[in-house]
Amino acid sequence: MILAVTMNPSVDISYPVDRFKFDDVNRVETVRKTAGGKGLNVARVISQMEDEVLATGVLGGTIGDYIVQELNESNIPNDFLRIEKESRNCIAILHEGMQTEILESGPTLSKEEGTAFLEKFECLLTTASLVTISGSLPKGLPTHFYRKMVEISCNKEKPVIVDSSGEELKQVLKHEKKPFAIKPNIAELSQLLGFEAEAGNIDMKQTLNHEIFKGIEWIVVSMGDKGAFVRHGDDYYQVTIPKIDVINPVGSGDATVAGLAVALNRNQTVESVLKTAMTTGMLNAMEAVTGFVNIRKLKKYYDCVKVKKID
Ligand code: ADP
Repeated sequence: MILAVTMNPSVDISYPVDRFKFDDVNRVETVRKTAGGKGLNVARVISQMEDEVLATGVLGGTIGDYIVQELNESNIPNDFLRIEKESRNCIAILHEGMQTEILESGPTLSKEEGTAFLEKFECLLTTASLVTISGSLPKGLPTHFYRKMVEISCNKEKPVIVDSSGEELKQVLKHEKKPFAIKPNIAELSQLLGFEAEAGNIDMKQTLNHEIFKGIEWIVVSMGDKGAFVRHGDDYYQVTIPKIDVINPVGSGDATVAGLAVALNRNQTVESVLKTAMTTGMLNAMEAVTGFVNIRKLKKYYDCVKVKKID
């Protein structure tokens, strides 16, 4: 079973309006509410790939109830730590071809709640074969919280894929216990290394040779329509993808993590792992719904992904 962690899930609400009126009343007819958060997208795509998944993290209140209800309706097994505080809403107002977002920061967790989650996490690891950790931490938890989770997983010999950014990711990489894989995009890679990187503009091989990545088995730098550049052990790969009709690329990184997790969990070859991860990312970008892939198209696009080893 793949354990997919979301520490600060949300209910994502979208309000489409013809014209957004400031300082006035905006009435909305069609409201869409979905359980959101990067780790939940990962869990959904793993489930669509027909692998066993368990979604976990922290949630509370009626918003937390809504998230659980939605996961249950989608037949996604879940076991979250429940807290007294309310989980968050994230609102996207879709107007005049634009998207204005109002994002609640979510509940502030106490030290005790953090400890309770780590205990739960350690328990859930018993039946997990692989772990994914996605997104940012809720307020109240220290930036080394993911590092702690990676350490617990390593002690139990469970590989972890970390898809996070900023200080949380830095803390994970600095520690002696390493994640099995990370999947930064170009912006996250630049932020991590403290320079401006643009796909195609930097020597990726040299960049991924940086000390900070030592000991990490897989570094998958996703680059949107340019595919990915990957370091696996001491080998480097350029992965290119076909041109596709993009409907909504939001959540493609999460779908990539899901594909990566499924392929690694199935012990696929290096080439196959990379092709699967790229294909799930593309399939997500081809759909309107975030965190949804049409697996019937998997084979067709999988066959079009090219993996080239770089000497
Ligand atoms: P993130 O969502 O984390 O920023 P990316 O934008 O790099 O990640 O997308 C992850 C993967 O999804 C890409 O490597 C690619 O396979 C696919 N993808 C994303 N955007 C596009 C796009 N515009 N065209 C084709 N594939 C895309």
